Amino acid sequence: MELEKHLIDLSNAPGMSGYEAPVREMIRAAWESLAEQFDIDGLGSLSALRHGVGDKPRRCVMVTAHMDEIGLMVTSIDGAFLRVTRVGGIDRRVLLGQPVIVHGKRLLSGIIGSRPPHILSVSEKKRYPGYDDLVVDTGLTERELKQIVPVGTVVTFDQQAVPMGNGLLGGKALDNRASIAALTLMLEHLQGRRHDWDIAAVATTQEEVGTRGGTVAAWHTRPDLAIVIDTTWGTGVGVSEDKGFPIGEGLTLVIGPNAHPKLFDLLRKKAAQLEIPITPEPAAGSSGTDGWAIQVSRQGVPTAIIGIPIRNMHTPVEVVALKDIERAARLISEFVCGLDDESLDRLALAAGP
Ligand SMILES: [Zn+2]
Repeated sequence: MELEKHLIDLSNAPGMSGYEAPVREMIRAAWESLAEQFDIDGLGSLSALRHGVGDKPRRCVMVTAHMDEIGLMVTSIDGAFLRVTRVGGIDRRVLLGQPVIVHGKRLLSGIIGSRPPHILSVSEKKRYPGYDDLVVDTGLTERELKQIVPVGTVVTFDQQAVPMGNGLLGGKALDNRASIAALTLMLEHLQGRRHDWDIAAVATTQEEVGTRGGTVAAWHTRPDLAIVIDTTWGTGVGVSEDKGFPIGEGLTLVIGPNAHPKLFDLLRKKAAQLEIPITPEPAAGSSGTDGWAIQVSRQGVPTAIIGIPIRNMHTPVEVVALKDIERAARLISEFVCGLDDESLDRLALAAGP
């Protein structure tokens, strides 16, 4: 698999929260020859299982990344225009001028428009347009829209991914397709490797609307241990190192109540052995990832959360470094191959964190 090409395909594919089928099919095709057993649960998360060689009952580690992306939904038809609302936490500063795809009875190309600046009042000029100020313009008439675009139609960003300098890639949905690409690479690294534990790679749904796919997937997979990969804030203009992490310079590892302290230590040690730079990412409460849901599944799951820094989070022009994706895949594949009979005992919290 050529990582840049794979990530471009993943980024371009539509898969809004609750409507992940198009991207799920692409992931399934990419994983088809890399795992032994596939399963899609009731909320649409895709699980790919590789059997371990350890004694039964065999332990299972679940490695997850959410595949859904933020997007828009049609709320009404207003003359020849569509009114929309958001699904997930879109940065609405960038909505005006965006090309979109309207997933009606047939696919329509559209543009997000608003009133020209010349006729805005002074107070309107000082604020970013809200959803009431924006419309999707498809060029169709009201009559045509009423036939083709029912209320509730999904609208996704029509932004083709852009290869950039120094192994960076810009595009939509890199939160969290970057981590899906890391899962694909991890599965590739595991080919021909022996591992005691079962390894379930899971592409979850509906993370952006409340870690819902992860909740169900954890219950369904019954993991003994979980590793979640998601994106985190990259440094850039106005985002200093106390608020973000440099992209292309390594991964983050969440530390705090959402992360198992001993699992954190073990992963950090493994990263040091592999010379993969890791920065602890403090999360005083929820990490804001599927890890929050998975950790409290069933009797509790020791969980680690790995972050891949990206710039421009929750816009259609997120930026990621391919190198960081490779690092995440290498770290996790080496770690899961090292899990053995005693691994869970080493994580026992009885002695205190
Ligand atoms: Zn995410």
